[in-house]
Amino acid sequence: MLMFKQKERQKDLRLKHAFTVDVEDWYHGIADEKTRASAERRLDYGLGRLLDILAEYEVKGTFYWLGPAAVEHPYLVRQVADAGHEIGCHGWLHELVYTMSPQRFREETRKACDAIANLTGKPIISYRAPYFSITRKSLWALEILIELGFQYDSSIFPVRNWRYGIPNFPRQPQQIDTPSGSIYELPVSVRPIFNYNLPVSGGSYFRLYPYSITQNNFLALEQQGLPVVFYIHPWELDPDHPPVPLNWKERLTHYVNFHSTTPKLRRLLAEFSFAPLGDVFKNSQTRVANNHPSPSLTN
Ligand SMILES: [Zn+2]
Repeated sequence: MLMFKQKERQKDLRLKHAFTVDVEDWYHGIADEKTRASAERRLDYGLGRLLDILAEYEVKGTFYWLGPAAVEHPYLVRQVADAGHEIGCHGWLHELVYTMSPQRFREETRKACDAIANLTGKPIISYRAPYFSITRKSLWALEILIELGFQYDSSIFPVRNWRYGIPNFPRQPQQIDTPSGSIYELPVSVRPIFNYNLPVSGGSYFRLYPYSITQNNFLALEQQGLPVVFYIHPWELDPDHPPVPLNWKERLTHYVNFHSTTPKLRRLLAEFSFAPLGDVFKNSQTRVANNHPSPSLTN
């Protein structure tokens, strides 16, 4: 008992990492419109399991809701908010930001944000793009997020990937200045190894790596004083959701090692300290203020 308490105390003193959840159902990121309309709704199952595990380890996180998922499950949005988690916005349709016009991005983000805020009664100030799709081609989206009242964003992944990434984006939280004002960017975490940024941050990477690799990556970033921005989806705790035909790249990221998620997640929550992204953002703000200039949006 004493040892357990000591271990808990040691954990509390450690750097707090950001625990984030992209709240969408199993079909939002992979299915076409027709499949989406008739797909079996299973969000409450995966989300319920995730909420129970977080409650067990007394961890609060940030839940980025996709607009239609929130509209279809208002009671779940309230349940997550009432449990003390931070509520953010994950856009409307799960589509790549860099394929949208700025006008469409503005309208759909506002629509999602209003729908979620109506359910929680609080302004939504934190954003994550579907597929981390704020890239060099869609940096204009940050200015629109500022206009819509967002204070921080966690959509930029400093990796080279077929679907997302700004490989040379700084790994530390950054204040980004635009003609409309400033926003803080908390990039999704990577670990530089030789000339390559290894994603260390969750999702399919978490399922793909043996737990020891994730543990090692977290320890390496802790030593550098950098909080990990970790992400997960409710459907990753629902391995029995229906299969959908996908190309090999999508299949690799969607279906790999499903049954390993829950035991790995339990170990991670037991060994490391987590907080909502907003808390990690506040802790980083002071460091960011001393760490100007902000990165250029034009190159
Ligand atoms: Zn998503």
